[in-house]
Amino acid sequence: MGDITDHFSRKEFACNCGCGFAAIDIQIVQALEILRNKICKPIVILSGCRCPAHNAAVNGSPKSQHLCGRAADIAVKGMRKDAIAKAAEAVKIFEAGGIGKYSWGVHLDIRDTGAVRWDNRKNQKRYTNGPAVDVQPLTPELEAEIQRGIERGD
Ligand SMILES: [Zn+2]
Ligand SMILES: [Zn+2]
Repeated sequence: MGDITDHFSRKEFACNCGCGFAAIDIQIVQALEILRNKICKPIVILSGCRCPAHNAAVNGSPKSQHLCGRAADIAVKGMRKDAIAKAAEAVKIFEAGGIGKYSWGVHLDIRDTGAVRWDNRKNQKRYTNGPAVDVQPLTPELEAEIQRGIERGD
């Protein structure tokens, strides 16, 4: 039983550096609760809020949604990253936000600047604007864009 929603508590979203910053946006917690109930499996929060120092330490984007408590890096035991990302697409606020696949799991955020998708897994580096599930192959232009920090908008 969580203290924000049925399955999530504030402490799960606290900055991993131990600083105590845990100002997670209630909207992303509610969206994660919807996702959790869709997949019927526990969601592990790997990273929620990040203070600027910790964000820099993990090479996060200076504009990372984690800085304002609007992002969560998640993993689900026994579930493929593609399946997690696909399930997140069915949650309205994630569909309109950011969904990124990584070797460790999936980054989700509720940015309000347009939908963004990326795949940063080894040999699968792809990026696309828009909510399409099928991502475009990475072009040199997109690669440059990613290097400017979009990939780490995460
Ligand atoms: Zn911190
Ligand atoms: Zn992230």
